[in-house]
Amino acid sequence: MRAILARLLKALGIVRYDLLVRRVSTYPRDEEVTSGELVHVVDGGIEKWACFRCPGGCGAMIPLNLNPKRRPRWSVAADWFRRPSLSPSVHQRNDCECHFWVRQGRIEWCEGGHPKRV
Ligand SMILES: [Zn+2]
Repeated sequence: MRAILARLLKALGIVRYDLLVRRVSTYPRDEEVTSGELVHVVDGGIEKWACFRCPGGCGAMIPLNLNPKRRPRWSVAADWFRRPSLSPSVHQRNDCECHFWVRQGRIEWCEGGHPKRV
């Protein structure tokens, strides 16, 4: 319901975001993660993963560990519209090399962190 409202308000230009949280209990298959969503894997009350498509153009799925027992570890928070904020920033180690923050559902590129357009 909130996601529907968020999409409507986005279409109207009132609310802005690149990603919305979708909560699941099992690790998603690669094809289950679509652009525009951050799949939040919470299993048995324990946060496990945040998975989303790389915004840099390569489209690779980025799985971020949320489990506090493992490193590196990210934390995800969502606002009323389920727009995620991630901490710390995400730095891709592949050819894309993108470096960005996710704040209130929006991709915020770090300086020099946006992949070069070919
Ligand atoms: Zn990429």
